Amino acid sequence: MNAVIDKSAEKVAYENNKLHKRLCRLVGQAIGDFNMIEEGDKVMVCLSGGKDSYALLDILLTLRERAPIHFDIVAVNLDQKQPNFPADVLPRYLTDLGVPFHIENQDTYSIVTRLIPEGKTTCSLCSRLRRGILYRVADELGCNKIALGHHRDDILETFFLNMFFGGKLKGMPAKLVSDDGKHMVIRPLAYVKEEDTERYAAVKGFPIIPCDLCGSQENLQRKQIKAMLRDWEKKTPGRVESVFSALSTVVPSHLMDRNLFGFTDLKTDGVANPLGDIAFDEEPCSTPATVPGIIPLQPK
Ligand code: SF4
Repeated sequence: MNAVIDKSAEKVAYENNKLHKRLCRLVGQAIGDFNMIEEGDKVMVCLSGGKDSYALLDILLTLRERAPIHFDIVAVNLDQKQPNFPADVLPRYLTDLGVPFHIENQDTYSIVTRLIPEGKTTCSLCSRLRRGILYRVADELGCNKIALGHHRDDILETFFLNMFFGGKLKGMPAKLVSDDGKHMVIRPLAYVKEEDTERYAAVKGFPIIPCDLCGSQENLQRKQIKAMLRDWEKKTPGRVESVFSALSTVVPSHLMDRNLFGFTDLKTDGVANPLGDIAFDEEPCSTPATVPGIIPLQPK
């Protein structure tokens, strides 16, 4: 009996270790691919008390120990004075961890509830207020980078939200200059799946603070997109990964944005493209070989 228990405990430990390694590898890869952190940076890690931001801080601390460069980390939580916010949880966690931290107390909850009629979604004003405060705090703490805990699934959901409801091909950037032009905002979890941060939070036993204390409902459209992606992945495993990889493999000449590609000035140069084009842009039933004067594209 003991041998069986030992075996399963060993397996759990092995899987947990694999998960930690995967998170470190993916975060390290995103940091490298987008040059997110450089020598001498002071990174403000925004900690909401949710699973993703805990995972972000934890993995960044591990990577910092192994990194060939020196950078500083300061954890920052914005206490928005939502009812029942357990204000003692994060200070205790961060003190035990030995990480420099700052808790910014700003009652955005009252502002939002005063300005937004009851029953309407408050997230957009709340996020705008939070963003402004975080930029100011980054300035005061001397942080040049602001790290946020958005992961691969947040990026994908945003991409589909923009496409379905905003008519734009636009995701969530892994790295961008803040609205005030002074800081670099980075998303080191950009390659990490949400299910991995979920599992990691459970493994590490992070003291999670629920995100619905303000009483606001999660955006219904985002909920629908999340369900759609989950359903796709169930029916066609690998599809979500393929869509995500498409975000880094953009072919402007095969889209319709005239600002991205110079369609109007496009000229023929008489030089054949040696690779041809193997994209999915042909009619499945076309038979170009039978059309006189047309040289069919040769598959690679
Ligand atoms: S869920 Fe509440 S705290 Fe979070 S962004 Fe929306 S209004 Fe703000």
